[in-house]
Amino acid sequence: MPSTSSPDLFQKESAALEKARAVHAAADADADGYRQSLGELIEHFERLMRETRRLIGRSDRAEREMQALATQLAHRASHDALTGVLNRSAVIERTSKTLRANSAVMIVLDIDEFKRINDDFGHPVGDAVILGVVDCLRRIVGESGFIGRVGGEEFTVLLPGHDAASAANLAERMREAISDSLIVPPVDRRITASFGVSHNEAGDGFDTAYALADAALYRAKRGGRNRVEFADQ
Ligand code: GH3
Ligand code: MG
Ligand code: MG
Repeated sequence: MPSTSSPDLFQKESAALEKARAVHAAADADADGYRQSLGELIEHFERLMRETRRLIGRSDRAEREMQALATQLAHRASHDALTGVLNRSAVIERTSKTLRANSAVMIVLDIDEFKRINDDFGHPVGDAVILGVVDCLRRIVGESGFIGRVGGEEFTVLLPGHDAASAANLAERMREAISDSLIVPPVDRRITASFGVSHNEAGDGFDTAYALADAALYRAKRGGRNRVEFADQ
């Protein structure tokens, strides 16, 4: 029957093995025959070992590359491409997960008069302002919470386990860090943001936590911007 499979990769090794079997089986094989057959087996065995080592190395490398790629993909799926903070769906997931077991503060902030920055200096400068704001948030939040980008120039900071007083202090420091020290040339004006804060008990959901903070943010905007307001709770 004609074979359609790929050529035998071990043709030479099979031949050497067959020969060795024949020598081994022959009752009258002489020392030279043994010696020659053993020599061939050694040669093929060593080649197989070299090849196996090379293939193991290659498969280890491929596995490491796959793992790095999977990590990269998972990171991209949950993080914002411009700033590297959590994206909207990851914020929702992280908040819901936290609130299942813990109380948490939700801060929502939005850059003030951002449209004018884009209009006056262009979109790339607007992006640089967004990056500058995130830098300020990172400096203040550190490891104590999770920063997310939920809209173009709207961010959330989730602070698990914080009480209202500590959240008020952090929100005020974020506001100050932006308005007092954020300089993004060529923007020739103070950059500010407005903040809304809600304190949420374990068992609350993302929607409530966000809506309460967002309503407070709306009051901060109405009240003149560059300020922190707290949800009526
Ligand atoms: P307010 O103080 O009321 O917040 O005024 P505002 O001008 O900031 O108003 P709003 O928050 O509605 O403006 C959002 C603008 O943000 C509109 C949009 O063009 C811009 N924007 C959204 N995403 C991006 C982005 O990724 N990069 C840049 N440069 N601009 C963005
Ligand atoms: Mg804005
Ligand atoms: Mg906005």
